[in-house]
Amino acid sequence: MPEVELKTEVAVVGGGMVGMALALSLAQNQIESVLLEASEVITDHSEQFDDRTLVINPASKVFWDSLGLWLEIEPHTTPINHVHVSNQGHFGMVQFDKDEMEVPQLGHVIAAKSLANILLQAVRKQNLINCLQPASLESFEQHDADVILNVKHHEQQLKVRAQLMVGADGVQSAIRSQLNLQTSVKSYQRKAIICNITTDQRHQNRAFERLTTQGPMALLPFKNRFGFVWSVQAQKADELLTADDSTFIEQAQQGFGYRAGSFQQIGRRSSYPLFQIKVPQQYKHRVVLMGNAAHAVSPVSAQGLNLAVRGVSRLSQLLTDYKNKGVDIGSTQVLSVYQDSSEADQNRTLNYTDDLMTWFKIDEPIVNTIRSLGLVAVNAKLELKKKLYQTAGGL
Ligand SMILES: Cc1cc2nc3c(=O)[nH]c(=O)nc-3n(C[C@H](O)[C@H](O)[C@H](O)COP(=O)(O)OP(=O)(O)OC[C@H]3O[C@@H](n4cnc5c(N)ncnc54)[C@H](O)[C@@H]3O)c2cc1C
Repeated sequence: MPEVELKTEVAVVGGGMVGMALALSLAQNQIESVLLEASEVITDHSEQFDDRTLVINPASKVFWDSLGLWLEIEPHTTPINHVHVSNQGHFGMVQFDKDEMEVPQLGHVIAAKSLANILLQAVRKQNLINCLQPASLESFEQHDADVILNVKHHEQQLKVRAQLMVGADGVQSAIRSQLNLQTSVKSYQRKAIICNITTDQRHQNRAFERLTTQGPMALLPFKNRFGFVWSVQAQKADELLTADDSTFIEQAQQGFGYRAGSFQQIGRRSSYPLFQIKVPQQYKHRVVLMGNAAHAVSPVSAQGLNLAVRGVSRLSQLLTDYKNKGVDIGSTQVLSVYQDSSEADQNRTLNYTDDLMTWFKIDEPIVNTIRSLGLVAVNAKLELKKKLYQTAGGL
């Protein structure tokens, strides 16, 4: 059988949330793409107690709205109206409230599965996106005028010829390795324990960040429960994963206290190793990295997808502007402008998450006192609180 060849403006490798968001944003700007996703199509989208949750920050809400998807997304979300940050065993706390910040809500919580499904349905309706699944990139060749992707789609070999290839192929990005781009990986020697948890009180749309001696803990209001994330040392995480429910609840409650009520039912626990990935140079001859392939942060700060979405919006706008000016969208001129315009945002988010992971794990009396005084000072200063809220909100 002769090999099939497809031609497109942008080939997006990876149909995770970042790849889908980019293809949708490009289509809205009249740029066509071929979107490749290696995994099989999942058909069961029913919501379950154990679904992993994500925080959508205000900047991402604006992005989804600009794609015309917010009306579909919103019914699946729970708004966050209040955030409470405290330090276990020490005085001082910071509270953020929607009224004080003068916004309708501080953020939204959604099941990752629901958001992915909404994006997939939108991708399938788009004529300018040729979505191939399961389709796996096997190799690629960078030429002067284009990139050629060698793809396995079902049992067929395909060639995709594109002006630009976007590697949205996740943390273990094979594209990043093949390009030999310098990558720094910082391991925190910790894991995040994730599960859902109910309490004997209603959450009242309150989210909590608690700095415990074991590591930061977050409770996110979602439907009739909280999404729970706890960063602990790797060995402790393994113990907590295998502990029986009552032991786990007891230890989590001890760290968190009773501000959200008494912990009742917990769902299936899972764990993620915590690390940060930084890629100083994210493009090379007609190929650029996006999302987790380009930067990965600890889930404790709820920033990974929110940061990626800002990159998607920036790249999509730049490609549109340069295409309209008749400039080759795969050129180094365009990709270097993208990288330069993204650097400050990425560094700010990576540093903010890194501070949360390192500063708050030091359990020294002097550090605890400074930390408590810091929380008191921030809580007393509305302008400072607004600045912090804007940083976390991607504004
Ligand atoms: C526990 C947890 C909680 C989180 N909470 C938040 C939060 O509250 N807010 C937030 O903003 N972010 C959060 N994040 C981060 C967020 O989930 C990620 O940033 C985001 O999902 C990254 O998406 P991605 O598309 O870059 O990567 P991925 O989701 O990994 O997608 C990559 C895709 O590429 C495909 N692929 C790989 N190789 C190939 C190939 N050769 N050919 C074709 N396809 C390929 C894979 O199959 C995969 O589907 C959280 C993460 C975790 C783990």
